[in-house]
Amino acid sequence: MSLRRGVLALFLLAVIGLSLFVVYALNSYTPLPVEAEWAVVGADVIPEGAVTVRFSGTATLLFSDGETQWMTDGWFSRPGPLRLLVGKITPDLRSIERGLADNQVTELAAVLPLHSHYDHAMDAPEVARRTGALLLGSESTANIGRGWGLPESQIQELVDREPVQLGKFVITPIESRHFKFPNSAIRERALGNPELIGPLVPPVRMLDYRVGTAYLLHVSHPKGSWLIVGSAGYVEGVLEGLDVDIVFLGVGGLGSQTAQYRETFWRETVDATAPTHIIPIHFDSLTGPVKGPFMGPVQAVAFISGGQENTLSFLRDKAAVNPKLRFSTLPRFEEVVLFE
Ligand SMILES: [Zn+2]
Repeated sequence: MSLRRGVLALFLLAVIGLSLFVVYALNSYTPLPVEAEWAVVGADVIPEGAVTVRFSGTATLLFSDGETQWMTDGWFSRPGPLRLLVGKITPDLRSIERGLADNQVTELAAVLPLHSHYDHAMDAPEVARRTGALLLGSESTANIGRGWGLPESQIQELVDREPVQLGKFVITPIESRHFKFPNSAIRERALGNPELIGPLVPPVRMLDYRVGTAYLLHVSHPKGSWLIVGSAGYVEGVLEGLDVDIVFLGVGGLGSQTAQYRETFWRETVDATAPTHIIPIHFDSLTGPVKGPFMGPVQAVAFISGGQENTLSFLRDKAAVNPKLRFSTLPRFEEVVLFE
């Protein structure tokens, strides 16, 4: 073999090796950063008037008291890794149809994206269109609705700390901050230039869904109260005096931050609201299957941001030092009773 041929063969081997590695990194999943023993199952019988939740993954939660149903995010599309990296994305109508059917939803009072990134707000206008829901959110979310052709009568912008009443649910949006990506280049790309100032018409690049406003939701109902944290960011002091029974705690990316960041996040969300029950959310892969068991983030995410295991050990430590605090993870789509 001549030297030139040898170099070419080596080059080809390197390309094949790299390709295999990329395929592996984008298609194999890390373990979930939650304890298996925290898993709860759906109820066979729902007592009359009970407040229930169904979880579709990430931060998509459906709440019902038998009279009124409303949803956070309403995200079902889960575009694959290659499309996210190099292509354009658009709501996947079949996934949305199936997602609503899996949640047994035909009518919703509202769908409320917790911020406007694609994995929260992308499908919400189509969910609103199919269920008659009001699309509630930031100006950026409203512009995602407009870009999808949702009528203005179904779009309502939220105002910081101004409660919205849906049946017996009182939802108070509290402006907060998105998770702070530790890598400054990623942070700038995902969180810089935050507002969508005009209608967004898909297909568009993943990051064309700008973050908009990141909300915490304080929800009260005659049966109980809870806080929904869609992204692991915080603003010190904003939750003072707002105690709740349950915190739905978004932990996405948390393990890639510093230990000090995690502690402050916990203090400002969990300690600040003194719940008795924690339900971690947004811990599953954004590109995992739309059905079946949840998967942890893909290996590529773990390589880039790292720290998946830090999330689990952080939550484990918090469970160990707070023995009275109950931890639960929700099954996919099944109806779970929060308050009887
Ligand atoms: Zn986000």
